Amino acid sequence: STIALSDLEKLHVLGHGNGGTVYKVRHRRTSSLYALKLLSPTASSDDRRLLTRETDILRRTSSLPSPHVVLCHSVFHLPSGDSAILMEYMDSGTLDTLLRRDGPFPESSLSDVARQVLHGLSYLHSLSIVHRDIKPSNLLVDSDFRVKISDFGVSKVMCRSLDPCTSYVGTCAYMSPERFDPEAYGGNYDGYAADVWSLGLTLLELYLGYFPLLGPGQRPDWATLMCAICFGEPPEIPGDASAEFRSFMECCLQKEAGKRWSVKQLLSHPFVAGKGSELSDL
Ligand code: ATP
Ligand code: MG
Repeated sequence: STIALSDLEKLHVLGHGNGGTVYKVRHRRTSSLYALKLLSPTASSDDRRLLTRETDILRRTSSLPSPHVVLCHSVFHLPSGDSAILMEYMDSGTLDTLLRRDGPFPESSLSDVARQVLHGLSYLHSLSIVHRDIKPSNLLVDSDFRVKISDFGVSKVMCRSLDPCTSYVGTCAYMSPERFDPEAYGGNYDGYAADVWSLGLTLLELYLGYFPLLGPGQRPDWATLMCAICFGEPPEIPGDASAEFRSFMECCLQKEAGKRWSVKQLLSHPFVAGKGSELSDL
């Protein structure tokens, strides 16, 4: 049965993002919990374009959902001009919240994270969707440590004519070299490799406890990041990590898109292959 906004009771704010505010809500009759993302009426036309894109993608992913992509139940368009996206509630927050609360992740958890995100990406890529915003705050977690990809605000449905330079909204910190400079790093650029770079950077951050491309106290402005990503060496892989984990991150963090492993190749990398718990390999 469909859920109406009036069936829902606001509990509290879960967090704020660029696009709007996310609330924890409860269905009055069933007491089921959901997350409701509200997009404000002051949103610019840019925001509206992104919302249209986000809802288009959510529609594509809701017919045959993946256990590693956050489930969207419905999209509401309010008379005020506001929009709201009703999603499943993930009770442990994001990998970013967990990192801030508990500190760096052990390798065994990161293998679990990597495998689950790869399954989610494999699903999205099979629907021709490039996520383009993989980062710790867009990876939601529940109390069974199931990891799901969320936030399709800047995702793109790939079509035949490739336009890697489309304008970008949001943080560029996890953006791959070829998205800044397709001529230098693009090679046989197909768009999908950008998500693999962001996954590598995300895992490295979760291992180190800080964002790998910036020094301590360095401001993450666009120019600094662009220089670090395009002109700098690829981020250094820590020597205390296991050989398997180092190799996995090196496969993700190749500056040239064409040298990076695909999601499919990575799923058979020894860091993740054959280690799945029943739950996360669904
Ligand atoms: P950005 O705008 O850069 O994506 P963000 O990811 O933090 O930043 P939102 O996607 O709007 O912004 O989400 C805001 C916060 O709300 C998240 O960081 C997370 O803590 C919380 N949140 C979002 N979706 C859910 C959900 N389905 N279940 C539980 N918490 C959620
Ligand atoms: Mg987000």
